[in-house]
Amino acid sequence: MKDYQVFISYRRDGGADLAGRIADRLAARGYNVFFDLESMRSGKFNEQIYDAIDRCTDVLVILPPDSLDRCADPDDWVRLEISYALRKGKTVIPVMMRGFAFPKTLPQDIDALRTMQGVEASVSFFDSVLDRICDLMKSDPAPTEQAPAAKREKKKNKRVYLIAAAAVAALLAGALIFFMAKGGSGKKTYILNTNTMVFHKPDCPSAEQTLPKNKKTYSGTRASCIEKGYKPCSVCEP
Ligand SMILES: [Zn+2]
Repeated sequence: MKDYQVFISYRRDGGADLAGRIADRLAARGYNVFFDLESMRSGKFNEQIYDAIDRCTDVLVILPPDSLDRCADPDDWVRLEISYALRKGKTVIPVMMRGFAFPKTLPQDIDALRTMQGVEASVSFFDSVLDRICDLMKSDPAPTEQAPAAKREKKKNKRVYLIAAAAVAALLAGALIFFMAKGGSGKKTYILNTNTMVFHKPDCPSAEQTLPKNKKTYSGTRASCIEKGYKPCSVCEP
């Protein structure tokens, strides 16, 4: 089993989209992100979640407006996750969406959340939100093609990023030309998750576990999935 660095706790209603975007972008920066929880959460609260939190250093809690109200319920799984992460001494980072405010009272086991350094997530400055999250996190990203250096050196390496980005763009353009020259239409079957706006290969385990009401089979190109606003799954990499 691979090790994770970052666990993202979110509610499916209101937080899933931002959680998914943050997960994708952190993964692109070289972090190992544990995110794809939808399947686990459709049944009873799963021990696997505790196991995943144990293996992470940082826990992001996505907070849409009023999202902590339901934490009054001792079985609410967002509460269980926050409480467990705090108890285990994880770096817990509240990511507060527009309109979110901490309630006057919180259950004792998660009350420390309000004292944690958090991030106000504004969609218009998404990159600075990500920078701030990366600064607060204890874990360092692994070097990747897109993120060749650890975060503490990221400013120095801005030029390297640009060169790498240009190289990737050139490669993609080359691949596209090659592909078009071969005359392939690239039409394939994908599974769309209309809730998280992620698309999967049909044999991806998380696609198989997507709730039927959120699941759409789509035949088309990868590019057309992205055009429709879907993000490729980071597990099956369609
Ligand atoms: Zn997938």
